[in-house]
Amino acid sequence: MSADGSADEARPARPEPDSLDRDTIFFGGRWRPAGGEERASVRDSGTESVIGTVRSASAEDVDAAVEAADRALRPWAALSPARRAEHLRAFHRALSDRVADLTSVISAEVGTAVRMCGPIQVQSSLDLLALTADAILEKPLEEQVANSLVVHREVGVVAAITPWNYPLFQAMGKIAAALAAGCTVVHKPAELAPYSAFVMAEAAERAGLPDGVYNLVTGRGRVVGEQLVAHPRVRMVSFTGSTAAGTRVYELAAGSIKRVALELGGKSPSLILDDADLPLAVKATVNRAFLNSGQTCDAWTRLLVPRTRLDEVLELAVGSAGRLTLGDPFDGSSRLGPLVSDAQRARVREYIDGAIADGARAVIGGSAQPAELDRGYYVRPTIFADVRPEMTIAREEVFGPVLAVLAYDSEEEALRIANDSEYGLSAAVWSADDEHALAVARQVEAGQVVVNGGAFNPAAPFGGLKRSGVGRELGAFGIDEFLETRAYQR
Ligand code: NAD
Repeated sequence: MSADGSADEARPARPEPDSLDRDTIFFGGRWRPAGGEERASVRDSGTESVIGTVRSASAEDVDAAVEAADRALRPWAALSPARRAEHLRAFHRALSDRVADLTSVISAEVGTAVRMCGPIQVQSSLDLLALTADAILEKPLEEQVANSLVVHREVGVVAAITPWNYPLFQAMGKIAAALAAGCTVVHKPAELAPYSAFVMAEAAERAGLPDGVYNLVTGRGRVVGEQLVAHPRVRMVSFTGSTAAGTRVYELAAGSIKRVALELGGKSPSLILDDADLPLAVKATVNRAFLNSGQTCDAWTRLLVPRTRLDEVLELAVGSAGRLTLGDPFDGSSRLGPLVSDAQRARVREYIDGAIADGARAVIGGSAQPAELDRGYYVRPTIFADVRPEMTIAREEVFGPVLAVLAYDSEEEALRIANDSEYGLSAAVWSADDEHALAVARQVEAGQVVVNGGAFNPAAPFGGLKRSGVGRELGAFGIDEFLETRAYQR
C-alpha cells in the first residue's frame, strides 16, 4: 500500500460487456435457478455499458431461502462461539482469494477508482470479517444477576438488505456480526451493485459454511426486499439504505414485531473552530466529502467555518478539490470515478442547479458533464459558498460530490447549525486544543464524531441518531445487535 492508502498491486481488469449474466441464487448450500420474471441490467458506470444481467428471485424462492435459513438456525446457534469463529476465518480465507474479482466488479458497478477500491471497499471488508471473528471470542454471553442466569443468544433468522455504495463492506457489517452471534442470514444486495454478493456466496460455499447459514436472493427492494421484511420467520431485519426505504422497512417490520436495525442517510458537518490547523482540516474534509464521489453515507458534506477565515478556507478547499483527479475508475491515476447510475447523476445535477438557483455560488465544479469525459456518469467535485442553513443544499443528502460551506460568527452558532439537521450520523470537529475539540464534539448530535482527524476505527460502534437510523454496527457492538437476552431464575 502507498502512503495515501491506495493499492499498489496490479490493476484489476475491467469486466467485459455482457460477461456477468447471473440466473442463479444461493440458498441451503446450493446454487439454484432464480425463478423471478425480472432481469436487472448492471452497468459499468465508467462506460455506461451493460456488464451483465441478474435474474430476480421469485416469491417461492424467497420463502425457500428463509426456510433454509430457519433449518440451519438451531445447529449453527448450537456451535460454540469458537467454532463459529473458525468458520468465519475459513470464510475470510476464501474471500481473500477473490480480492481482484471483488475490486474489479465493485469498481465497475459503483465507479470507485481502483486505487481506492482495493483498500476502502475490499480490504476494509476483509479486515472487518477478521475482527468480528475475534470479537465473538471476547464477548461474555452469560452472566449471573442475583438468582438469574442471563443469557445473550441469537435473535434468529436475519434479513440483510444492503445498498450499492459500499456493497461488500455494508454486507459484511451485517453478515459477519449476525453469523458470529449465531444467527443465519438471507441477504438481498442492491440491484445496481449485486456482484460482490455473488462472490461472497461462492466464498461461503468454498469455505464450507454449513448449508443455509448464508443465503443470497436477488431482486427489487419493493418486491423481494419487502417480502423478506414481512416474512414471519425472519426475526430481524438489518437494513442499510435511504431514509425513505428505511421508513418503509420500519413500518412493514412492525406487523410481526421484528427487531430492526437501520443505517440510513446523513448530512454530516465538519466544524472547524477558529484556532484549527486550516490546511489539515480543510483537506481532510474535502477528501471525506468526495470519497467514493460523495456516495458515502457518513461523508462530511457541510463545512462550517468562522466567517473571519472563510476566504482562506475557500481557497484551500478549491485547491484540495482540484487535486482529486476525476477519471475512469480503471485508470490508476484517477482518484474519483463516476457516480453509480444515470439516475444518480441526474439527481445530483438537479441539486447543483437548485443550489445555484437558491443563490449559492459554485467556487469549483458545476453540473455540466466534464468535457474530457463524454461517457460515464461523471459529476465534477463541486463546492458551494454563500450557503445559508435553510437552503436545500445545506439540508438534504445529495449523495454525490457536493460540499456546502457555511460561515458562522460564534461557536454557539456553529453548534446550532451543526445540529439543525434531521440527520445525525457523523461529524468532525477541528481545534488546536484537543480537549476543547472533544468538549464541542460531545455537543454535536451524531453517532460518531471525529476529533482532529482521528482514524476510522472498525472496532468502534457505527450508526446514527435521529433520522440516520437505529442500532449500531461494527466490532463487538455490531454483534450485540444480533443478540437477544433471556433470563433463567432459580
Ligand atoms: P435504497 O434505500 O434505495 O436501497 C437500499 C437497499 O434497500 C437495496 O437493496 C434496495 O433494493 C432495498 N430496498 C429499497 N426499497 C425497499 C423496500 N421498500 N423494502 C425493502 N428493501 C428495499 O438505497 P440506495 O440507493 O441503495 O443507497 C443509498 C442510500 O443509502 C443513501 O441514502 C445513503 O445515505 C444510505 N446509506 C447509509 C449507510 C449507513 O450506514 N448509514 C451506508 C450506506 C448507504
